[in-house]
Amino acid sequence: MSAKIIDGKLISTEIRDELKQEVENLKKEGITPGLGVILVGEDPASKSYVTAKERACDSLGIYSDNRHIPNETSEEELLSIIDAMNNDPKIDGILVQLPLPKHIDPDKVIMRISPEKDVDGFHPQSIGKMIMGKDTFLPCTPHGVVKLLNYAGIQIEGSHVVVVGRSNIVGKPVANLLLDKSKNGNATVTVCHSRTKNIKDMTLQADILIAAIGKAQFITADMVKDGAVIIDVGVNRVEDSTKKKGFRLVGDVDFEPVKEKASAITPVPGGVGPMTITMLMYNTVQSAKQRKEKK
Ligand code: NAP
Repeated sequence: MSAKIIDGKLISTEIRDELKQEVENLKKEGITPGLGVILVGEDPASKSYVTAKERACDSLGIYSDNRHIPNETSEEELLSIIDAMNNDPKIDGILVQLPLPKHIDPDKVIMRISPEKDVDGFHPQSIGKMIMGKDTFLPCTPHGVVKLLNYAGIQIEGSHVVVVGRSNIVGKPVANLLLDKSKNGNATVTVCHSRTKNIKDMTLQADILIAAIGKAQFITADMVKDGAVIIDVGVNRVEDSTKKKGFRLVGDVDFEPVKEKASAITPVPGGVGPMTITMLMYNTVQSAKQRKEKK
């Protein structure tokens, strides 16, 4: 049986329609949500992510202050832009596109962003609150994964979730959210990484398998239990001379054969990717609502 495709684009559109309405309501009360977007350097993938984020702001009526600054920008200069955005009442959220050039310490940068404007959810304060199950900005990709599961009607509570990948931005937080004692959690979670022995023994136990590895088509059909739900976070460029750009995007999952075994699966592109940007917009709107409450 072929799996149901979990359409991240469609789910994203539904959430964005609701956000658009919320932005209109906020504007009527004199608040325009604002996002500061900082891109350092010319990395093509980063540029395309930033462009997509700026477009999303435009389409929802969110004000965006876009700073595309050269690769040789000093750490001090970048920190001073963040300070200015922290103090700018028009800005509700600040996004610094990662990765940063080698001479800039990403931890210093993340920690400089005011937790009140940390719409990426990367600040240690946001992460600490998330782990404690307190209200905070949730990191966008893990939050997007949870939303996808909710919209697709997948039972999380009591399921065995296996996450492959333990990064601070995807693997660890998604594992934590699904483990949390909350309405979107209560799963039993196993986290695998590059030192995990017999990874296939682990993945075969998954009711919900989340791949966040960064290796094209790593998860093959023999690693997947019949009827499992597959969430593919990976975005990998593989050479493809038939494409104008010379490459195409594939996930961490070998989509076609895995689709025949799974009960539901996210495609790449069009699965988790659109949700990440949508949850960034969601956090920005939440932050603007908090500004309104403080007025
Ligand atoms: P990352 O920081 O490079 O982490 C990759 C993780 O995969 C690490 O924990 C690593 O283990 C693990 N891993 C690598 N090789 C492995 C192997 N052979 N077996 C088992 N585990 C292995 O990557 P990331 O930032 O989490 O991103 C993961 C993927 O998601 C990338 O393709 C990225 O582009 C994509 N992504 C997509 C979105 C989106 O919006 N769709 C957002 C963020 C990231 P160790 O810890 O042991 O090294």
